[in-house]
Amino acid sequence: MSECLFCKIVAKEVPADIVLEAGRALAFRDINPQAPTHVLVVPKAHHDNAAALAAADDGLADDLLKACHAVAVQEGVAETGYRIVLNTGEGAGQTVFHVHAHVLGGRGLTWPPG
Ligand code: 5GP
Ligand code: ZN
Repeated sequence: MSECLFCKIVAKEVPADIVLEAGRALAFRDINPQAPTHVLVVPKAHHDNAAALAAADDGLADDLLKACHAVAVQEGVAETGYRIVLNTGEGAGQTVFHVHAHVLGGRGLTWPPG
């Protein structure tokens, strides 16, 4: 069995507040939200980070991006604006090594991010 937390969420072995299941991608609310909308979007297949996902070159990164936008529409933040974040590597704050996009919205978002 995989020891990966997000693989376990995908397998429904760990509960999560799932907001969208779209083919090869799954979206669920972050357990520690940083904005009124804070949803994590993951490919169901395990890739450690964005670089590995891109290297797979099988259209999965495309699916992930489309799922992010679908979440933003569903959450009602597509018009007001939202941010998609892929922390890649420990130095960028990645703590779960199953690639995930943060979809953040519902409040003003400052730039640059910290
Ligand atoms: P990272 O820091 O790797 O970019 O993002 C990991 C995110 O996963 C964090 O925002 C954290 O709050 C979230 N997270 C960690 N454990 C869980 C969990 O068990 N369930 C959910 N839904 N989110 C989690
Ligand atoms: Zn995984």
